[in-house]
Amino acid sequence: MAYVTTYPYTNKVVKKYDSMSDEDVDEALNKAGTLYQSWKNEPVASRKNYLENVSKLMLKNCDSLAKTIVQDMGKLYTEAVAEVKLSASIAKYYADNGEKFLEPKPLLTGAGNSWIENDPVGIIMCVEPWNFPYYQLMRVFAPNFMVGNPVMVKHASNCPGCALAFENIIKKSGAPEAAYQNLFVSHDQIAKIIADKRVQGVALTGSEKAGTHIAAEAGKNLKKSTMELGGNDVMVVLDNVDVKKAAKLAAYARLWNAGQVCVSSKRYIVEKSIASEFMDALKSEFAKYKPGDPMDKNTTLAPLSSKGAQAKLDEQVNEAVKNGAKLEYGGGIPDLDGDFYNPTILSNISQDNPAYHEEFFGPVAQFYVADDDEDAIRVANDSNYGLGGSIVAKDHKRAAKMASKIDTGMVFINGITQVAYPELPFGGIKRSGYGRELGPNGIKSFVNQKLISIT
Ligand code: NAP
Repeated sequence: MAYVTTYPYTNKVVKKYDSMSDEDVDEALNKAGTLYQSWKNEPVASRKNYLENVSKLMLKNCDSLAKTIVQDMGKLYTEAVAEVKLSASIAKYYADNGEKFLEPKPLLTGAGNSWIENDPVGIIMCVEPWNFPYYQLMRVFAPNFMVGNPVMVKHASNCPGCALAFENIIKKSGAPEAAYQNLFVSHDQIAKIIADKRVQGVALTGSEKAGTHIAAEAGKNLKKSTMELGGNDVMVVLDNVDVKKAAKLAAYARLWNAGQVCVSSKRYIVEKSIASEFMDALKSEFAKYKPGDPMDKNTTLAPLSSKGAQAKLDEQVNEAVKNGAKLEYGGGIPDLDGDFYNPTILSNISQDNPAYHEEFFGPVAQFYVADDDEDAIRVANDSNYGLGGSIVAKDHKRAAKMASKIDTGMVFINGITQVAYPELPFGGIKRSGYGRELGPNGIKSFVNQKLISIT
């Protein structure tokens, strides 16, 4: 497995990294195992200051951390800065609240004095993607650090710069070296790590395909796992909204991060009385997104993460059109050096078109027209995925009723799912995976909720 930074804006290889040997992996496991044994006897509060340092260091080094994201995966610099700040806020959130979330909870019973304590379980093996190369890491590192679970991470092979930069921040915070270890390992080595008895949890964020593989390895070894997988989220636009405002939000929700967001609004479901007006407004909004140098603050559309991602997306769009979809806007690869894809809108996608069921990981939107609220819910739920979704509405009560009927892990009304907050739990159902990260729920993913009862 080659760990290489190739700058998606120029397609030039920036740096190659050596992979780890099995001996290196054993050493990492030994260090993490030893740390776990000592952390078991230390109070949660003993780790708080280090996590505060992590937060401060991220903010202090924001510029260089952001530039590393840009080099690794081509994100716009402005969006990379926002990601660094969000990651710092997650560290601060768990530093501030971790002790409270983990404190023992008394249980009222007739059986004397009983309580539940939240104990660490062991090493957590994480496999993470490139689309938010620090945020994804922080979602697992910060809560598990407070719990007392050492974390070992295999980051995506195309963002090794970010993998090392993040590890370096943790080192500089003064936290024990084995609290967080980056592993440049192969897929096969991951299976061996998951099988190690000191590893007691497995967290993956990535595609459905990787999810089935890693979840199977975890299951085979009876290890608990969380799976944060792909999505095909809807944005439902109700009949009486401000169409121009809704279209602006819809375009941003799809094109931000070059459309490479698990919870992007990938399917617009628009009620029929405003469908044609909304489509026109949407095309005008899509036209405003301009590809260019990710470091230039005037650029609004980033390149995709790689040539491979660009080719896959183009193939999906061509296949969709071949199967009857109408290309309403865009389509194709622009004549530029970087791995860009033209912002695209597809309509007329029937249930037997493969596109109806697929996640498009790039700036491609699907457009559906709904007869009424019930029809919109029917289309929204006709998906194998169940990650997030949003509803644009004037009447909050009507929208909240609809939100309760949408089969996903998250629904945002007049907002978009991808604006993440440390306080709000994140995760999905169906083929989008299981488990929750962030918020009070996220810190309980890998704890032994141990009953102690005195009679
Ligand atoms: P991916 O191919 O699944 O890669 C994600 C990570 O899994 C990478 O580190 C990758 O390593 C590793 N991996 C892939 N196959 C593996 C295997 N068989 N064994 C062990 N490790 C394996 O995902 P991607 O295409 O880069 O990322 C995009 C996907 O992630 C989309 O589907 C997106 O929706 C999803 N995602 C979900 C969330 C969420 O929170 N639900 C958030 C972000 C992204 P290599 O790079 O070495 O192959």
